[in-house]
Amino acid sequence: MSSSGSAASSGRGWGRSTVGERRSPVPYREDPMEYQPVKYCLCGVKAPRWISWSPRNPGRRYHACVDALIGGCGYMEWHDGRTTPFLRQLLLDLCNAVWAARSQVNVAPMEAQSRNMEG
Ligand SMILES: [Zn+2]
Repeated sequence: MSSSGSAASSGRGWGRSTVGERRSPVPYREDPMEYQPVKYCLCGVKAPRWISWSPRNPGRRYHACVDALIGGCGYMEWHDGRTTPFLRQLLLDLCNAVWAARSQVNVAPMEAQSRNMEG
């Protein structure tokens, strides 16, 4: 049962977890700082608007402290409402498909390149 559980209690809050580090599978369509009306975190600076790719809230935009990755003030507020269970699963499937395809691409390039050289 306890074979590979290394993270005992290092992660706090929702910032960094063992699951986390889910980067966006697609390029951002909007600059995190280009939105209106402005939301300020508790530090008093404009809070960037990110897109969540967590299993619970894929594709859902939220505002967070600009220093959230190194602690910050803890400010976090959802911008979008909850996604339906169907869309949530659909987004997760798409997300996983993109990452699966990316990881395959990462393995192939060298071989593909050397083959192109021959022609
Ligand atoms: Zn802050």
